[in-house]
Amino acid sequence: MTIKTMQDLCSENKKLCFYCKGDMESSQNTHFSELDNCMVIIKKVPCYKCSQCGEIVYTMTMVEQIEKIIEEVKSIKKEVVIMDYFQRKET
Ligand SMILES: [Zn+2]
Repeated sequence: MTIKTMQDLCSENKKLCFYCKGDMESSQNTHFSELDNCMVIIKKVPCYKCSQCGEIVYTMTMVEQIEKIIEEVKSIKKEVVIMDYFQRKET
């Protein structure tokens, strides 16, 4: 699964959807990531959501944070791990 970032969007002040050029609004998303033996669910990830088509993108900062969380999760030997983006702990 690839994570889309704001990098791909033409943005100055206004963020536009990569697909339909609709307005991107600040939103929150639940991010799912599948590792070899583990499913990671990260709740309340800040993101931008297209008001027209619902496409969700993350900024680079958010992607880095998600990757950090996933690295931490790798040491937890569980099939499903549910994390909170802000609290950075198992919920
Ligand atoms: Zn769109």
